[in-house]
Amino acid sequence: MLVPLGVAPDTVFEIAKLSKTSFPVESEWIALADPLQPPIEAYNWERMQFDAIALNRYIGRVFREFIQEGVRVIGVVAADGYIDGMNYVFGLASRDFGVASVYVKRLESSDRNLYFERVVKEVLHESGHLAGLPHCSNPKCVMSFSNSVREVDYKAAWFCESCRLRIR
Ligand SMILES: [Zn+2]
Ligand SMILES: [Zn+2]
Repeated sequence: MLVPLGVAPDTVFEIAKLSKTSFPVESEWIALADPLQPPIEAYNWERMQFDAIALNRYIGRVFREFIQEGVRVIGVVAADGYIDGMNYVFGLASRDFGVASVYVKRLESSDRNLYFERVVKEVLHESGHLAGLPHCSNPKCVMSFSNSVREVDYKAAWFCESCRLRIR
């Protein structure tokens, strides 16, 4: 289930639809129509970024009942995120909570298709982590680690053969 945090629900709906077509396992992709207010306690005012672990924990609390039933929740956040030791992250999966988040601020583009493509890749990447996949050494695979938007653009919205096999 995708949850909008500051991103327009229509956009998140579109992202869910696109992600479903590239995910190697038949699964239901729901986009929540009601946006979730990003929690102020997870925001770091000095860094002007969300603490990605704190935000995932918060999402996990809000959707606890869904998660207990096996639903995986991914927040699509209209801001920047970080974890300790890194300047920023495009996304973070917390398998312990059954939650991931994707931070779209650095993925923005005046080219709407490019923007969608980038967000879909990051949503697929975090979904892969939630399904248990580690990073992949194939730079074209969506599970490869991206340090920059250029690397996000280089990889495809596609799981390589070995990631496909693992996820199944
Ligand atoms: Zn990753
Ligand atoms: Zn791969």
